[in-house]
Amino acid sequence: MKQSEYNMSILIKDAWILTQDKKRKQIHGNIYIEDTTITQISEKPVTIEADFKIKGDRKLVLPGLINMHTHIPMTLLRGYGDDMVLNQWLEERIWPVEAKLNPRYISCGTKLGLLEMISSGTTMFLDMYFFEDTIGVETEKAGLRGYLGSGILDYGTPEYPFSKIFSEFEHFIERWKDHELVKPVVAPHGTYTCNPETLRRAGELAEKYNLLLHIHCSETRDEVYTVQDRYGRRPVEILKETGLLNKNMILAHCGWITKGEILDIKKYNASVVHCPVSNMKIATGGVAPLPELLSADVIVTLGTDGAASNNALDMFETMKFAALLQKQHRWDPQVLPAQTVFDLATINSAKALHMDHMLGSIEEGKKADIIIVDLDKPRLTPCHDPISHLVYAANGSDVYATIVNGKILMLNGEFYTLNKEDIIEDAIECAEDLTTSS
Ligand SMILES: [Zn+2]
Repeated sequence: MKQSEYNMSILIKDAWILTQDKKRKQIHGNIYIEDTTITQISEKPVTIEADFKIKGDRKLVLPGLINMHTHIPMTLLRGYGDDMVLNQWLEERIWPVEAKLNPRYISCGTKLGLLEMISSGTTMFLDMYFFEDTIGVETEKAGLRGYLGSGILDYGTPEYPFSKIFSEFEHFIERWKDHELVKPVVAPHGTYTCNPETLRRAGELAEKYNLLLHIHCSETRDEVYTVQDRYGRRPVEILKETGLLNKNMILAHCGWITKGEILDIKKYNASVVHCPVSNMKIATGGVAPLPELLSADVIVTLGTDGAASNNALDMFETMKFAALLQKQHRWDPQVLPAQTVFDLATINSAKALHMDHMLGSIEEGKKADIIIVDLDKPRLTPCHDPISHLVYAANGSDVYATIVNGKILMLNGEFYTLNKEDIIEDAIECAEDLTTSS
């Protein structure tokens, strides 16, 4: 019987464990998982019998990676309109296709994204898109943790006209707010697509249900100028005035923010998601000022953004790009060392989601969201420093196992909750329909 068919015990034996605890301790030893929780971490041999054993030799065991900004169904648009100027890409490629979205396409693209995330070691993700209820159903079935935000826009969405967005979203919140793995998030799209009144309403909704907020913020210079022309203020200032800049707010991008805005983000305890691959591919120009944000003690995290502008959902790749972009931009190889980057993708993300008491590190009593990387690869040999390998040498295909909430979702290329062949076949068909039918 597969472990996924029931939640019992798992023993990971004789592995190199990167705990990401407060001391960033690394140990050679064993992890015992009972039901959903890590109950024992030990350097000594563990004699307890487990229902399921994983041999850890030549393996690295680490907390699952957390993708803090994506639009998961956009996997169907991977590679559909590369090397284009942003506005032309949106107007000619993305928006016409998004107008045709329906639950079938969403389900198909979501399953493809979940498959990709599980195979590449992502255990939790923060999404902003449309038809989030369908995304919730698929996420629950796949067994990943998803923080899901239905995009709010002044001109409506492919799912709802503006007049229905808030009432429908409340139904979505009621359905998922107490779920163990899927959580609702309030997601106004941006300060250039939501007017201050819409932003205020979104803030009130988040407050009413005590939910996290997620928004695109200062991704491009054009966005900042548009907002400044319209309101005489920059995006962060608008968020401050509308009451959205607070400890529940997670700001995606922040490539065009000022030193003053960094101080405000810190003062109001909002968090930032850096999406280096998408920013470079779209050529947004501005580079998120990570050294300044980190020295101001802002919680900084990492995201892939949607697969239409990345074109993968691989958090290993994102960690490497994050490190290299800052080093190149600052002419300084000491900026953003590997350990810091690894922190952004694990414990920092758990902090931004207010889940660091349960997730983001491997510690006794925490939830078992764990991935295992296979070191038995040419590109990972030799291994002088495992953190260096994770950031600079590994990629998503080196992931050997993905465990979420104590349940094995993938082991040695075999998926326990998803049917890889069916998902890929459906995705090819859906992507073709979506991009060719009128
Ligand atoms: Zn985005």
